[in-house]
Amino acid sequence: MEELKSLNEAYFGKTQALLDLEDYITELRARYPYSSNYLATHNEEYKELLRDDIILKKIPNCLAKTFGFNDVAVGINRGLGVNAATIIYPKNNKDKTPTKVVITKHGFSFDKNTRDLNIVILFTLGLLFPRDDGKLSFTPSQIVAVLLHEIGHSFSIFVFSKDKLTDRVDEKFADQFAGMYGYSKEIMQVVTMNGDLLKRMKSTAFDRTFKDVPVLNILGAVKQVIWAAAKSISDSDCHPNTKERLLVQIRQMESDLKNDPSLSSKSKKELEDNIIACKKYVDQVFNTKDDSVRDSIIKFYYNKIEGYLPSNYFSNNSSAKLADPTAMNKKIADIRKTNGYFIKY
Ligand SMILES: [Zn+2]
Repeated sequence: MEELKSLNEAYFGKTQALLDLEDYITELRARYPYSSNYLATHNEEYKELLRDDIILKKIPNCLAKTFGFNDVAVGINRGLGVNAATIIYPKNNKDKTPTKVVITKHGFSFDKNTRDLNIVILFTLGLLFPRDDGKLSFTPSQIVAVLLHEIGHSFSIFVFSKDKLTDRVDEKFADQFAGMYGYSKEIMQVVTMNGDLLKRMKSTAFDRTFKDVPVLNILGAVKQVIWAAAKSISDSDCHPNTKERLLVQIRQMESDLKNDPSLSSKSKKELEDNIIACKKYVDQVFNTKDDSVRDSIIKFYYNKIEGYLPSNYFSNNSSAKLADPTAMNKKIADIRKTNGYFIKY
């Protein structure tokens, strides 16, 4: 008998359903050529969008079919920030049958025969629609990446046992979930606000007023960095630091390329090209060559300081082994081999 090769398959690439989702977002924007601010302040248009839009009804159907949800509800709240959130809950609270997750070459899915799960997905207006100056926060493919991160949270418990699933591991998995579907580059773009790290840093009126005034602008940047570091330590944000979130996407693609002998030549090429593009992107993001001193200080924070803050350093280290892409791929491969994994949700 031929020895079975161990397949660490966890790269699905962009499936047709996900590309359809990107199209729906493009169509939605075309049907409502308004800014997020306009929609937030014009009740009739906003309500019409929520109530009648045919595209907004296609998104839930597509997600239900792809990931095996029983019912998907999509809502848009008036927030002008760039955000999305999901809530997942079982359809029937009394039914204690464990839920089964099945992983195929097309990705993760809940098995609808075992238990029905519902999901509510909330987008902000600021995520879906352009700002007043016509600029988009994110492209449709970047929004699908955000959506995948959110959906990833509902599958993490099937890959890690409950006692090991810390918040940091959960966040790492959610990012890598998007990576498994070929959205590494988009996750990196979202995390860095399309490469503009300065936009990630909260600025005050002082920072904006004096951003071009020598000395004062440097003082402003130092103040911003101290503020961001203090906030990161006191809030202990469950997301990994920015640079870690970028580098792990590259590690994951390298691991897929190295450990999955069953990759199609198309997927292989896709991964190779993406690894090169993403490495280049990281260099660009942290490049300070033509920057003012102020901008360099802020980039230096994200490049060299943020990851060493106690809130990041220790939880990155303690989650490193568990959330390592190769270890994670192996677990996913095990679930595939046993043809499903049950858990009480
Ligand atoms: Zn998350």
